[in-house]
Amino acid sequence: MRDSYDRYLGMDRPITRRDFMNGAAMVIGAAMLPHASASGASNLPEPQNDPGYDPPGKTGLRGSHPGSFEIAHSLRDGTFWESAGSPVESPETYDLVIVGGGISGLAAAYFFREKAGNSARILILENHDDFGGHARRNEFHLGGKLQLLNGGTLLIDSPTPYSPVADGLLKKLGIDPPQFEARYTDHKLYRSLGLQSAVFFDKETFRSDRLVVGTPGRGWDIEVPATQEHKPLNWTEFMSKTPLSPEVQRDIVRIQEAKVDYLPGLSSEEKKGRLSQMSYRDFLLTVVNADPGVIPFYQRRTEGEWGVGIDAEPALDCWALGLPGFQGMSLKAGPARHMSYSAAGYANGGSYRFHFPDGNASIARLLVRALIPDAVLGHTAEDVVTARVDYSRLDRHDAPIRLRLNSTVVAARNVSTASDANGVEVSYASGGQLFKLKAKGCVLACWNMVIPFLCPELPEAQKEALHYLVKVPLVYASVGIRNWTSFQKLGIQRVASPGSYWSSISLNAAVNIGKYRSPTSPEEPILLHLTRAPCRPGLPAREQHKIGRYELLSTTFETFERKIRDQLARTLAAGGFDPARDIEAITVNRWPHGYGYEYNPLFDPDWPEDRRPNVIGRKPYGRITIANTDSAATAYTDVAIDQAYRAVNELLCV
Ligand SMILES: Cc1cc2nc3c(=O)[nH]c(=O)nc-3n(C[C@H](O)[C@H](O)[C@H](O)COP(=O)(O)OP(=O)(O)OC[C@H]3O[C@@H](n4cnc5c(N)ncnc54)[C@H](O)[C@@H]3O)c2cc1C
Repeated sequence: MRDSYDRYLGMDRPITRRDFMNGAAMVIGAAMLPHASASGASNLPEPQNDPGYDPPGKTGLRGSHPGSFEIAHSLRDGTFWESAGSPVESPETYDLVIVGGGISGLAAAYFFREKAGNSARILILENHDDFGGHARRNEFHLGGKLQLLNGGTLLIDSPTPYSPVADGLLKKLGIDPPQFEARYTDHKLYRSLGLQSAVFFDKETFRSDRLVVGTPGRGWDIEVPATQEHKPLNWTEFMSKTPLSPEVQRDIVRIQEAKVDYLPGLSSEEKKGRLSQMSYRDFLLTVVNADPGVIPFYQRRTEGEWGVGIDAEPALDCWALGLPGFQGMSLKAGPARHMSYSAAGYANGGSYRFHFPDGNASIARLLVRALIPDAVLGHTAEDVVTARVDYSRLDRHDAPIRLRLNSTVVAARNVSTASDANGVEVSYASGGQLFKLKAKGCVLACWNMVIPFLCPELPEAQKEALHYLVKVPLVYASVGIRNWTSFQKLGIQRVASPGSYWSSISLNAAVNIGKYRSPTSPEEPILLHLTRAPCRPGLPAREQHKIGRYELLSTTFETFERKIRDQLARTLAAGGFDPARDIEAITVNRWPHGYGYEYNPLFDPDWPEDRRPNVIGRKPYGRITIANTDSAATAYTDVAIDQAYRAVNELLCV
């Protein structure tokens, strides 16, 4: 039975790297660990110098790919130093070593050079096979044409306006988000084809598989404006097409449309106070008094923003995010005292928005171009989208700025004492070898929870604070399909799937920039973007993230693939989609350590600023300073840049 269904899904069709990824991860991991017997040569060939080295073009398991995390995990488990042997002392010396080649690390290099001058010697060490951190690029060649998607960071968009520092950096890189949005994003294409948003109700959750097209209003979270031929339904019409019971349908219509003050007699401030202390789930069940059957319809609405469902998100934060039920409650615009970073910001309006075809990977590529010009040819923020990266130029001995991939830092320590430091010593593992080098300073632009293992001599309170934040696990899949005629026949652009494995499926955004052209005809191949935030409803948010991380790390590529094929087949069947025939390529971007954690008013105290774990955790230690979004307890590109700026200035003040 399973075999014939698998055949129908196309699980027997050749997909590059599937079998390799399932079997070889542990072997790769073991081979990465440095051994005491390793030769003393410090000039081992770097994979990034191999001809044809092209991480964005790889399919299969990406994001935290096999080979990138095993060393850090053995450091965490206390087994690393047992077998590490003595390091090769590298003759290289630097003004600055940066740990982490994400936006924060790259921005730190940019700011440091700006202050210290063009001759400053900077080394960036990154454990993955590509730079950018979460801002990673997925590159496909479908039907002979380049097609791009973000493997992680989706777009320039933040709860607060970009600061002068972050906005200034974008400008120096040639990015003008409002202008780019107006010029390069094609908002008309899907509308002109009559495509709308939809909800897929799966039989496991809702008793029968059903696709209901024409989600009213904002749909799930995108605006699909009405056209003459395709007017979205109103909520009563939409609900009548769903497999939900009449009672549940009635209550969803009420939640969406009724203008009821559910907390009469309280001021806006008092209401906000109450709503900040109850989950949105509890708000719906106990304040709105809705039928419990509405919960599966709303449960996952907050996962894309915070990685957990409505059981673990305050009602007030959901109000700020635009979820329904508050329209009659006369809540005054603007944030309240105890809100998450994102909700407080969005209550004030948020920043500008622009999506490059590869997400914010274009920002990372522009930063690398600014730092190491001959590695990324071209001159503009437009031409970077199709520019090829010559990875062999990233780490040249004669260049002032070097970017070394596949290199996991395992120790960073002040050479003398923290109060009287005159340099740092950084050790890293790469290609089965351990190296040690010297620098005048170090910015840790890596994740908070790694830092206590790199700097065990940090004060205990600081290490405890660094461990507090638990990063949010997420997985984004990019799926290349032969054509999108099934989407056209069904009249859909984006499908929310409240009960399914993947919580959303969307056609790639239409953006035309530089020489890059998005597909315009449904007969052409296209990329789909699928998302999932693994979590365990009912537990505190940080516990949910830990369980979700374990789930991500223990899920094989084969399972991800089967879930993709099954869900696409069931969602798109009536449009003629054939999973075995129509799926051409799959990349699963797994982010066990995804978004930086934001304090959640349901579970975290309302600390004063100076007692917040991120503030305690990011204190400079001698000539070591700390960047990355974790150090601001949130997850946005502007924050990564601002924190890099702070960390560089702290270092220059030492
Ligand atoms: C799926 C996803 C979608 C997102 N979407 C958006 C979005 O649309 N807009 C937005 O503004 N933000 C988004 N974000 C948030 C994103 O985290 C930030 O925007 C930003 O890219 C973070 O940059 P960073 O440099 O602080 O961290 P990271 O990107 O995490 O970079 C840190 C790097 O340090 C490396 N590192 C860790 N330990 C070591 C070590 N020991 N040695 C060497 N290297 C190490 C890591 O592997 C990583 O590459 C998203 C995040 C994820 C996961």
